Order: sequence, then structure tokens, then C-alpha cells
Amino acid sequence: MKKRALVIALLVVSTSAAVLGCQSSAPKTDHVLFQYSSLTTLMAGVYDGDMTFGELKQHGDLGLGTFNTLDGEMIEVDHQVYQVKSDGVAYPVADDMKAPFAEVTYFTADQTIQVSDSLDCARFQSFLDSKLPSLNVPYALKITGVFSTLKTRSVPKQTTPYPPLVDVVKIQSTFDFTNVSGTMVGFRLPSYMAGVGAAGYHLHFLTNDRKAGGHVLACQVQNVKVEIETEGQWNMVLPSDSPFYHVDLSTGSPKASGATE
Ligand code: ZN
Repeated sequence: MKKRALVIALLVVSTSAAVLGCQSSAPKTDHVLFQYSSLTTLMAGVYDGDMTFGELKQHGDLGLGTFNTLDGEMIEVDHQVYQVKSDGVAYPVADDMKAPFAEVTYFTADQTIQVSDSLDCARFQSFLDSKLPSLNVPYALKITGVFSTLKTRSVPKQTTPYPPLVDVVKIQSTFDFTNVSGTMVGFRLPSYMAGVGAAGYHLHFLTNDRKAGGHVLACQVQNVKVEIETEGQWNMVLPSDSPFYHVDLSTGSPKASGATE
């Protein structure tokens, strides 16, 4: 009997340790921008990566990116990943699918701004810039509400040999929304991060019914809540496979205003 009591006691201790370990690991990913590969690599035509969405979701519950073979725009909202293909439809994403490029974070808002003015994307982003504590750190954004107009795009699946991204965006599909409710998520990166990501604002959109969206090209905000997380760390994982090792990245980084995924 004594032996059985001891075993039960040990089980209780180990269960408690597991719970404590789970709780104590949470702050390690707080305010961390996690990214896989780089925008420069993607623009050079490396459209296949080796990171699954199952792994990616361990690093964040909000973010954006794309899919192997460049098959559409990725948006992660509330820890759910969606694939907006070139037909404009948002599809749920299986954990074993892979990304060639992605940026995610565990999102906790440090700042919330309500915007009820009608502003186009450029003015809206300038307004947000004026509210940020510094332009020298990355920010994650979650923007929910109504957009009087919104234009998004998605890119079609590619086959090898892959063309550079600048050629793919010439045949992108675009989608126009009017008086649409939904969520934009993404990042504002400082100019010194151009190349590893898109300098400035890079936003993807998902409708409230989670059936459509894409990479944001233009918008007119009407009444939105803007939640902003100030990132304190930047964790970048590089591909370790042959396409990344052998692609020529010596021609430099894309311009801030250039094509992004
Ligand atoms: Zn994008």
C-alpha cells in the first residue's frame, strides 16, 4: 500500500510540473516577431520551403505569408490559418502544408486606436505612424471593422522552373470589396528590415465570414479598431534546403514599395 501511495504522489507532482512548465513557457514568445525565410528569397523565386504550418502555429496566432508553389496568400487570424487562392476564396489550411515565407506572432495588443474617419490606406497608415511610439521597431497589427472599399490580390500557383515574383504579380488576380466587414492582419517593419520583410505596412485581409480575402493593395477605412503590438524581439529561421542555399541573392533587397507576397 505504501508503494502505491508513493506512485500516486509522484504522478501528482509530475502533472503539476507539466502545468507549471506550460505556463512559464508562454512569456518567452511574447512580443516576438517570428519569421521563416525572407522576402528577398521569395522574390528571387524560391517558392518551396520546409516549414509546416503546424510548426509555424507554434510561433504565433496571427500573421501572413504564402504557400509552397506560391499557391495564394496566407493569413492567420485567431490561430486559424487560411489560404486565399487565386480564385479569391479562403480555404482552411492543414498543418502538414508548408510555407516558403511567413511572419507570425503571438498577438497581444499594447495599444488600441478607434478610427471612425474615412481614410484611404495611405492616410490611414500615416495616421497610425503618428500614433506609434517609435518607427524603429517592428509592429504587429490587427485591424477589425468596416472598410467602405478594399482591393486585394492573390497569386497563382507556380510550376518549376519558377519565375521571379515580379513576373508572377503581373498575372495576379485582384478582388474588389465594398462596405465589407473583416480583419486585416500584418506588420509594419522599419526601413532597415527591408529585404528580410516588407518595409512599411504589409497587410492581409479576411472577411468576417472567413470566405474571402487576400493581400491588401488599397483600402478606404470607415470604422475600424486598430490593435497594435510593439515587437521587442525578432526571431528568423532560415531554410536549410538546396533551393535557398543555391539561389543568387546578391542583387540586393526589394524596394519598400515593390512587390511583396
Ligand atoms: Zn502579402
